[in-house]
Amino acid sequence: MEKILISGCLLGMNVRYDNKNQSIESEIVIKWQRESRLVVVCPEVEGGLFVPRPPAEIVEGGGEDVLNGKAGILNKNGEDVTAAFIRGAEIALELAKRFSIRIAILKEKSPSCGSSSIYDGSFSGKRIPGQGVTAALLRKNGIKVFSEKQLAAVQEYIGLLPN
Ligand code: SF4
Repeated sequence: MEKILISGCLLGMNVRYDNKNQSIESEIVIKWQRESRLVVVCPEVEGGLFVPRPPAEIVEGGGEDVLNGKAGILNKNGEDVTAAFIRGAEIALELAKRFSIRIAILKEKSPSCGSSSIYDGSFSGKRIPGQGVTAALLRKNGIKVFSEKQLAAVQEYIGLLPN
């Protein structure tokens, strides 16, 4: 049974910075839950950040730049939280490796989990194309990352995977 790594907030866990979740209503996700396919992670909490916490954004770059030391992550109070984000990404990767996971479904727009869109670092609500730190690290290690808007594509991809 192909397991899937998934952002905790998508399954209703109140792990977001604002103590809320982004639960998705989806028959296929319910089916995957029943099949025990889903391995849940919140990289920011795993990295040592609290709930609630100030929102954070990548400054001048994307997740791959953070991993390369070319960009950092600040929270809205101006505190550098880069190390916690990197640690959380590493823990998510360890979890994926432990369960031989090849697929992740991560919450779009997050500085950790965003897979094609993130905020621009100005805390003004402006989004730019880019990925979060966990999405970048998982991709770097060969894991296919999807957003919560791509569940049909995930189903299709599972069907194409070699055993
Ligand atoms: Fe959700 Fe990922 Fe943010 Fe955790 S780090 S709250 S799982 S988007």
